[in-house]
Amino acid sequence: MGKVIALANQKGGVGKTTTAINLAASLSVLGKKILLVDADPQANATSGLGLDIHQPGIYDCIMGEKSAAEVIVHHHDVRKLWVLPSSIELVGADAELPTIERGHFRLKEVVDPVKADYDYIIVDCSPSLGYTTLNVMVAADTVLIPVQCEFFALEGLGKLLNTIKMVKSKLNPGLEIEGFVLTMYASTRHSNQVAAEVSEHFGELLFETIIRRNIRLSEAPSYGKPAILYDAASQGSLNYVNLAKELIDRNKQ
Ligand code: ADP
Ligand code: MG
Repeated sequence: MGKVIALANQKGGVGKTTTAINLAASLSVLGKKILLVDADPQANATSGLGLDIHQPGIYDCIMGEKSAAEVIVHHHDVRKLWVLPSSIELVGADAELPTIERGHFRLKEVVDPVKADYDYIIVDCSPSLGYTTLNVMVAADTVLIPVQCEFFALEGLGKLLNTIKMVKSKLNPGLEIEGFVLTMYASTRHSNQVAAEVSEHFGELLFETIIRRNIRLSEAPSYGKPAILYDAASQGSLNYVNLAKELIDRNKQ
């Protein structure tokens, strides 16, 4: 069975989408069969991988119009990567889902039938803890939390962790935290302070691999490519390959 890993943090701009795209691509280059699910109406993971955001996608699945198998697309450049695309229509889901029977379980019901087809299913969440993100947490096995090496890095994490606890106690008893990953690290005293603080707070749950600030990571999406295809030798690409290796290693244990 594939493991469903949600990339969540209700703060915007912390590196969720960058991590979703590049972790997914790196895992597939390492030989794993990957499905990237874009659960953000901004559809940045979909467009950042060079895919059309005007095709049927996650919204149609959640609303019961399509099955996952009908809308999943194979990535044109990464052999073992498939994508369940998003589109702006998903904006409506936060309001519509609560009115639907078993509204919390919609995404789980979409993803479960294809779980066995992949090694990992990586889900990119929107910067909110709304109903759609709760749906992702209900469908997920674990949550991976990107933490930006910036001022107020830990702010809001308490609320995120409480939400995970609530989902675990009420909706998805198997839900665990995959870990925390530091993003946009720069070799400054400030970045080091944040890294030390996060490490002290979360210990073993903090991934050893740190994602450094790297311009290639921000350029690559405008070419519709993961960093590993845009500039394989870049620091950003190497960091994400290492993160993928660490994730695989941790999951062996
Ligand atoms: P989120 O999905 O959490 O909102 P993004 O992944 O979209 O965050 O990142 C926010 C912005 O920062 C984007 O413009 C992205 O290209 C850029 N970015 C993310 N990670 C890095 C990095 N390690 N180095 C440089 N720029 C980055
Ligand atoms: Mg994003």
